[in-house]
Amino acid sequence: MITISKEDYLKALAEAEAEGEAVISATLAHWLTVSRPAVTAALKRLKKDGMVAVKGDGRIHLTSQGRQIAERTIFRHHLIERMLSEIFGMPWYEIHEEAERLEHAVSPAFEKKLVEKLGNNDICPHGNSLSLRSPADRRKQGQRLLSEAEAGSGYQVVSVYERDRKLLDFFEGEGIRPNAIVAVKSRNYDGTVSISVEKRTIRLGAPAAEKVWVRKS
Ligand SMILES: [Zn+2]
Ligand SMILES: [Zn+2]
Repeated sequence: MITISKEDYLKALAEAEAEGEAVISATLAHWLTVSRPAVTAALKRLKKDGMVAVKGDGRIHLTSQGRQIAERTIFRHHLIERMLSEIFGMPWYEIHEEAERLEHAVSPAFEKKLVEKLGNNDICPHGNSLSLRSPADRRKQGQRLLSEAEAGSGYQVVSVYERDRKLLDFFEGEGIRPNAIVAVKSRNYDGTVSISVEKRTIRLGAPAAEKVWVRKS
């Protein structure tokens, strides 16, 4: 029986892999907001169970067994987000945290029911796709980060980074949500970008603009 924290470690590793990031134990401690000794202990267990391999340089890799569990958890997270949004009408910016908790409680039978009920949709309510997870793949599809968008062009928001609740609340307040139309007015010397969204012009700093994928509209 896989415990909650093991699934979370495996999922974090799979997500980092998809984003092309090398993961060492310090990265995991930061991402999962746990102590370094806790990460060391968890990695020891995961290694013993054949879920991860740690290379000589400290980089952590998923084994195929570990990846399988991670992918299952990611899929269940996706289904729960869609359930909360499509069936229960919960606001898009609130569902990620609920899904983080509920994903661990989904049985194979319930997963099957969810798939039957919701149908296939690769896109979650944040606009993130199960199949298109790496920045390189997104760019190949014509997506770019809002922080790199050209002044004078119009864009549609594809997706937003969902693992930061404060950021999502901020985006919702500013009208930046999946499918929103934004016009990039200027890229400024201070690293901010001025955009008009919902008939207002706002300046977004890089920490926020780097968390939004857009495509030309
Ligand atoms: Zn989520
Ligand atoms: Zn999502």
